[in-house]
Amino acid sequence: MQNSFWEHDSFYAADFIVIGAGLIGLQVALQLKRRAPKASVLVLERGTLPTGASTRNAGFACFGSLSEILADLGSMGEDATLALVGRRQEGLSRLRSLLGEEAIGYEHAGGHELILREHKPTLEQMHEINRLLQPLFEAPVFEVLNGFADTAGFGSSVHAVLGNAHEGQLHSGLAMRALRAKAAAEGVEIVNGVEVSALHEEGQGMSVQTSDGARFRAGQVAVCTNAWISALLPELAIAPARGQVLLTTPLADLRWRGAYHLDEGFYYFRNVGQRVLLGGARHLAFEQERSFVSQTTDTVQQALEKVLAEIVVPGQAFEIEARWAGIMGFSPDKQPVVQRVNPHTVAAFGCNGMGVALSPMVAQEAAELLLA
Ligand SMILES: Cc1cc2nc3c(=O)[nH]c(=O)nc-3n(C[C@H](O)[C@H](O)[C@H](O)COP(=O)(O)OP(=O)(O)OC[C@H]3O[C@@H](n4cnc5c(N)ncnc54)[C@H](O)[C@@H]3O)c2cc1C
Repeated sequence: MQNSFWEHDSFYAADFIVIGAGLIGLQVALQLKRRAPKASVLVLERGTLPTGASTRNAGFACFGSLSEILADLGSMGEDATLALVGRRQEGLSRLRSLLGEEAIGYEHAGGHELILREHKPTLEQMHEINRLLQPLFEAPVFEVLNGFADTAGFGSSVHAVLGNAHEGQLHSGLAMRALRAKAAAEGVEIVNGVEVSALHEEGQGMSVQTSDGARFRAGQVAVCTNAWISALLPELAIAPARGQVLLTTPLADLRWRGAYHLDEGFYYFRNVGQRVLLGGARHLAFEQERSFVSQTTDTVQQALEKVLAEIVVPGQAFEIEARWAGIMGFSPDKQPVVQRVNPHTVAAFGCNGMGVALSPMVAQEAAELLLA
């Protein structure tokens, strides 16, 4: 089909095109518009809604459990671990002030970790990690909540509960609606149902081709497609990681609030009002969960139900109201990637399952690079 002059002039050209309307893409677009108010910023998203991780996550506003920080110290060393925790903490604070706590359903109900009996030795390192984090938080981060495992009614395999008063949780649907509304109100144009199929350098900018045969032009392009980044930029590495969750109906006697990590982070759960949202178990079917398909599986869902019944709400009757899956992107070194790919293209992706916390920082770096 031939395009009209009007279409070319008014619809198919922008100073900046952002591909992907997840947490990163929408924040990159907003940052660009704020830094260059006269520039036109267009977001192209293939789904009716964002269809990756941002509307499908658990809504933990967290920067890392004790077990995760210990694992990171082992794999990436002290400086990189501290820097990552610091970026997550700063990102959370920026997201809350950007969108407003009420608009994103933010609850400062604390972060927690259940230490199972077989993981008791983890506790011996708590004070050391608190000392390490002191420069960032100016107070001890982790504390043992004495007697809380019984008060909360957790299963008998739980040895102790750690509390972290610096973390919270949000409503991921409200957060994405608020972000989208803010971006649109500040002049970002968002078009859904447009899948980008190819990118080509063309003159002083980029040609952005779509699956339905349209061709957009932009001076600069930000590729924020996360797990799907390699489809447009094959030189970049990312591993898809499916995350599955379930949500119960409201429980009559839920005796705890907040966000929890369990079994060294292999499981995580939180309350949503009187409901329980529980996710994880990816480690039980690692290869199978390296998937681009947003679909739950029996293996993982049965494991989640077992943990729910035996550890999280033992002895309570529950029904499952909803199950869903989302696709994350994991970078090789657990660090998010913000990278110029050619003179007209920047890629920003790979929040490794912590995009709520990291996306504000990643988006700012990407916007600065695009405008440099
Ligand atoms: C089950 C689950 C639980 C999670 N829990 C948490 C949590 O509690 N806390 C936390 O911090 N993080 C959590 N995460 C991770 C977090 O959701 C992600 O890190 C974050 O959403 C990534 O944002 P993004 O913008 O990089 O990617 P995405 O949200 O995946 O956005 C990428 C977008 O690009 C679009 N796209 C892809 N290809 C194209 C194309 N060719 N053309 C146009 N559009 C395209 C996709 O449709 C998608 O909307 C969880 C993730 C999952 C799946």
